[in-house]
Amino acid sequence: MCIFAKDNITNIINMAQKHIPDSSCQYFNEKEETLTREQIEALQLERLQATVKHCMNSPFYKARFEEAGIKPEDIKTLDDIRKIPFTTKKDLRDTYPFGMASTSLKDCIRLHSSSGTTGNPTVILHTQNDIDEWANQVARNLWMVGLRPDDVFQNSSGYGMFTGGLGFQYGAERVGMLTIPAAAGNSLRQIKFMTDFGTTALHAVPSYVTRLKEVMDQAGVDPKTDTKLRVLAIGAEPHSEEQRRRIEEMMGVKAYNSFGMSEMCGPGVGFECPEQNGLHFWEDYYIVEIVDPETLEPVADGEIGELVLTTLCREAMPLLRYRTRDLTRVLGRSCPCGRNHVRIDRMKGRSDDMIVLRGVNIFPIQIEKILMQFPELANNYLITLTTDEDNDNMTVEVELEELFTDDFQRLLKLTSDVKRALKDEILLTPHVKLVPKGSLPVSEGKAVRVVDKRTVYQ
Ligand code: AMP
Ligand code: ZN
Repeated sequence: MCIFAKDNITNIINMAQKHIPDSSCQYFNEKEETLTREQIEALQLERLQATVKHCMNSPFYKARFEEAGIKPEDIKTLDDIRKIPFTTKKDLRDTYPFGMASTSLKDCIRLHSSSGTTGNPTVILHTQNDIDEWANQVARNLWMVGLRPDDVFQNSSGYGMFTGGLGFQYGAERVGMLTIPAAAGNSLRQIKFMTDFGTTALHAVPSYVTRLKEVMDQAGVDPKTDTKLRVLAIGAEPHSEEQRRRIEEMMGVKAYNSFGMSEMCGPGVGFECPEQNGLHFWEDYYIVEIVDPETLEPVADGEIGELVLTTLCREAMPLLRYRTRDLTRVLGRSCPCGRNHVRIDRMKGRSDDMIVLRGVNIFPIQIEKILMQFPELANNYLITLTTDEDNDNMTVEVELEELFTDDFQRLLKLTSDVKRALKDEILLTPHVKLVPKGSLPVSEGKAVRVVDKRTVYQ
């Protein structure tokens, strides 16, 4: 069952195709991946119109359109998308659990839910076709970075409600790889899988790759000589270019940035090509807008704003102009790899992760970028915000690559160098504590980089 086929839309090409191309082909879905800009936009308009029409089956969107005084027929051009009100996480919570569904529950085969820190969790429903299209996007990404059916793919991502597990599982299987659902944690077992099963590709959150390498060092396993690893997919959490380069260096392979979110299925939405110059967001599946988070007006290419996504191929729960809260920018709309799907910069952070300290706006990734410039520092760090005698302060704890706590002068000098570099970047001087490697907490899922213990929030 596919709403798009049912609506008899022409020009929809090879959706959820099940074929596996010849290994020498650099594209998984050659036609879709090499569309020209004109073809992409024509396809987007067609799919947007179909999606909007389909959304009228959802009580939420029907009411939204009535309130805004618009009808599906008013969407005549791609620019008309701006007539459509934004959808937010609050809308998802308010309609919990099924108020946003555009198909009946009997047509759905999967539910993913993410727990919110406040209020209701959010629910995302999928039809069989949604799951197939999701797998197709992930397969496209993995193929793009050179993975082929003879690769062995180990997925060290949490399974269950977290979409990084099943999302990568289905995508890697679609490519035809031997896929190992290793799940998160248990590093010694991960390493055994890697060496025993000949893992050639690994997916994990970046902070976990660092942890895995530490355990490898302790176990005397060198990823460069003792494994067949050749590709890493890292994502699901913000990380700096400096962090990526470190990961590549310590593991001896290329690490490609993978972006996804449960609301858009999960992983698969955007992925770097071998050029590593921004993530290609698949525009046959999504309309990508970058807007000013205050005015909600579009910003020019190259300017940072909030990423807003509209799904174009979703049946169970299409989302129109979803405000992701992720801040990024458009890098370009062409690429030497032959794909004209928009290139999006690595995420600068989420607007809700921004630290406001004494009136200054700071993103954790800015701090990470500076820390990673010091070879003496390891990859794990923690930012703690406190209120001390009515003053708000920041403490940055970072692990040392090698312990030299007995060399006091060296430690003092490094601490003050790190402080100065951080001040140049964030315009405030934090406390800096250099701690032994392995002493900061490591989470199995996304890393917790900021702990806010302030009594008065600014
Ligand atoms: P979830 O729905 O729990 O998978 O979380 C999705 C969120 O994770 C996104 O909105 C981003 O804030 C973050 N995220 C996912 N992938 C990346 C990535 N490659 N770089 C930075 N942040 C990411
Ligand atoms: Zn490219």
